[in-house]
Amino acid sequence: MYDLIIIGAGLAGSTAAIAADHEGIKTLVVTKTLLEFYTEDELGFINLRQIEEKIKLVIKNSRCVSFKNKSEAMGLDKQIVSFAVEQKNGQVDYAKNVLITIGGGPVDFETLTQKTIGGKIKVDADQKTSVPGIWAAGEVCNAEPKTSLVYAGEAVKAVLGVKLEKNKQTLTKPLT
Ligand SMILES: Cc1cc2nc3c(=O)[nH]c(=O)nc-3n(C[C@H](O)[C@H](O)[C@H](O)COP(=O)(O)OP(=O)(O)OC[C@H]3O[C@@H](n4cnc5c(N)ncnc54)[C@H](O)[C@@H]3O)c2cc1C
Repeated sequence: MYDLIIIGAGLAGSTAAIAADHEGIKTLVVTKTLLEFYTEDELGFINLRQIEEKIKLVIKNSRCVSFKNKSEAMGLDKQIVSFAVEQKNGQVDYAKNVLITIGGGPVDFETLTQKTIGGKIKVDADQKTSVPGIWAAGEVCNAEPKTSLVYAGEAVKAVLGVKLEKNKQTLTKPLT
């Protein structure tokens, strides 16, 4: 069981994976492609090469982040204490949290995240969807402004949110 499954490793998902590695969150990344688009953000803060270099290090060395590249998530089911992420090849992985970063294409996970606006997933200021435990960041969300630098920031915010929730759960565990 993972703490987090990130669906989609474009700009937002890859940034989230780097943040998850930094924060030591047990994470699986399920993605059809790795960093397909994008060269440099509008303000010149981050470029593809910087992210590519970092993500290669995460793939090679991370103790807590695993990757399934060329893997497509097809379904997302709520279980009692986790979510099941079903993939096209029939594999299923489980996590307490799911971060959806599938970009600007159609939102296939609409039924579970419930609320969409104009085909985009509705998130609050913390990148939470209407379903506790499901987060979204990047072009898939309704948030403005729509720039790549903001997408990267949203991804980091979601990962820090997962960590915060995890810490709260640990702290509220009854003493034995
Ligand atoms: C050709 C092109 C060039 C661009 N150049 C620039 C640029 O230079 N500067 C700039 O600021 N913006 C650029 N953009 C826009 C920029 O690419 C997007 O704003 C940015 O990539 C959005 O990031 P994202 O992570 O939300 O989505 P994406 O980067 O699109 O990533 C989505 C990821 O999710 C994966 N995915 C989708 N569905 C599934 C699924 N069901 N299961 C598993 N994985 C899935 C995809 O394979 C992909 O890896 C460009 C866009 C295009 C198309």
